[in-house]
Amino acid sequence: MSSSFYLPEEVTCNDESFKVFITKEQLEERLSQLGNQLNKEFEGKKPIFIGVLNGAFIFLADIMRHVSISCEVDFMKLSSYGDEKVSSGKVTELKHIDAKIEGRHIILVEDIVDTGLSMNYLVENVKKYNPESVSVLTLLHKKEATKYDVQLDYVGFEIPDAFVLGYGLDYAQEGRNLAQIYVLDDA
Ligand code: 5GP
Repeated sequence: MSSSFYLPEEVTCNDESFKVFITKEQLEERLSQLGNQLNKEFEGKKPIFIGVLNGAFIFLADIMRHVSISCEVDFMKLSSYGDEKVSSGKVTELKHIDAKIEGRHIILVEDIVDTGLSMNYLVENVKKYNPESVSVLTLLHKKEATKYDVQLDYVGFEIPDAFVLGYGLDYAQEGRNLAQIYVLDDA
């Protein structure tokens, strides 16, 4: 099968049309840059990368392949969107962090920061456990949509305020397996 089968220009998910927005090549190049930066800045610090489920699972797995320093990985799970395309405005913690955070360098890993509600909640929550430092790594940031005061240390791509899909990001739980990032085609 040709690679275009796996990397379509357009996809349909839950009866909505999406077009390619960030390609596999662009993702790979940016992840490599971010990995190099993290390797330099966290050398000798043995950070714990904490992925926010479900959306960050592909990004976290891929960025790990560019991280060569000693580190640990853990996950936590939040819910704020339900199955809709707009935020419910409420954060619920569905899975707590298992790792011991006190005295450690924590890197929170998100797929996307939209209003900033989830990351704002997460940073404040993690700080309560007295980490040595807390950093935020997000693949995508919707700057125009961000309403909450949120700390962002490493951003893959700044994107406009549009609904995106793929590479871990879902629409009503579908589309996470797409290898590129797609944007809702509402033209
Ligand atoms: P925030 O709390 O910053 O408003 O939203 C963060 C969460 O909302 C993300 O982790 C993600 O699950 C979801 N989200 C925000 N924008 C989008 C989007 O454009 N597409 C998808 N699939 N999820 C989004």
